Amino acid sequence: MDEFGIIRRYFSPLTKGFSGALGLGDDAALLDVPAGMQLVVTKDAICEGVHFRGDEPPALIAQKLLRTNLSDLAAKGAQPWCYFLAVSLPKGTTEQFVADFARGLAKDQKQFGIRLAGGDTTSTPGPMVFSLTALGLVAKGKMLRRNSAKAGDLLCVSGMVGDAALGLLKPENRTLNARYLLPQPRVELGLALQNIASACMDMSDGLVQDAEHLCSASKCSAIIDVTKVPLSSAARKILKSRPELMHTILTGGDDYELLFTVPTKNLAKLKRLKGVSVIGQIKAGKGVNVLDAKGAKMSFLRSGYRHF
Ligand code: ADP
Ligand code: MG
Repeated sequence: MDEFGIIRRYFSPLTKGFSGALGLGDDAALLDVPAGMQLVVTKDAICEGVHFRGDEPPALIAQKLLRTNLSDLAAKGAQPWCYFLAVSLPKGTTEQFVADFARGLAKDQKQFGIRLAGGDTTSTPGPMVFSLTALGLVAKGKMLRRNSAKAGDLLCVSGMVGDAALGLLKPENRTLNARYLLPQPRVELGLALQNIASACMDMSDGLVQDAEHLCSASKCSAIIDVTKVPLSSAARKILKSRPELMHTILTGGDDYELLFTVPTKNLAKLKRLKGVSVIGQIKAGKGVNVLDAKGAKMSFLRSGYRHF
């Protein structure tokens, strides 16, 4: 199995129907951006030992990589278009691994309407590293930003918060662990938010820390009502015996839900969306205050995941 064989056999088929990829037969892709559109570009890399253990099914590793990038496109209100993939594999990686990895990509390409357009394949003396650059399309000027929330806006979140963090902590809980292993990028919701939200980001490093990022980009503060944070029944069940895990829910990562703000004038439009919850409000000032059921300010040892 050499790199040319890998590309021809496993990666070229993933470009099918996308002429810009030139079948991975040239040095580079050639892309025509449709008139009136802008490119939204994002990149995520994952390393064995940091983002995945290495013994997960290869298809799942590939899907998670693609989905974390799709989540960024969703957060920007972009339509997924194509992606570039760099794989660094230790010598001795089996062909079966590559085949399964490519199968995971093929599955999600179909589900989310995105195609492979290029990449790079190398060996490495270290652990596996995968890096993916995803390109999305958005009408000019329509990309959702982090920096445009205003005091008075409602703070909202999609889906359920904390399931992935609990799933990492409790791999024996199949439902929650599946939420950790396979995020659900909110692509449709992101597109719908283009004309509803004032600001948007995806949550990957914990609700509290990500809310802080949105607030500092927008030069504002936020209040979060912890009783409004949407929790799955699996999470609620765990909280009954271990209430302290609420901190994990609020500061754990890997949710890949959308965190967004909505001006009150768009409340009627917001109410028509499915799977979203209002959890608080944007205010003037700085920082994020999470209030417990009694209205007291909660404090956290750390607000979210950090690499260093
Ligand atoms: P080199 O590294 O020798 O320059 P190229 O970058 O020219 O090799 O690769 C040849 C083609 O194969 C390019 O079109 C490139 O985008 C594509 N390619 C290589 N590795 C991958 C990969 N992992 N996924 C998708 N396309 C790939
Ligand atoms: Mg080349």
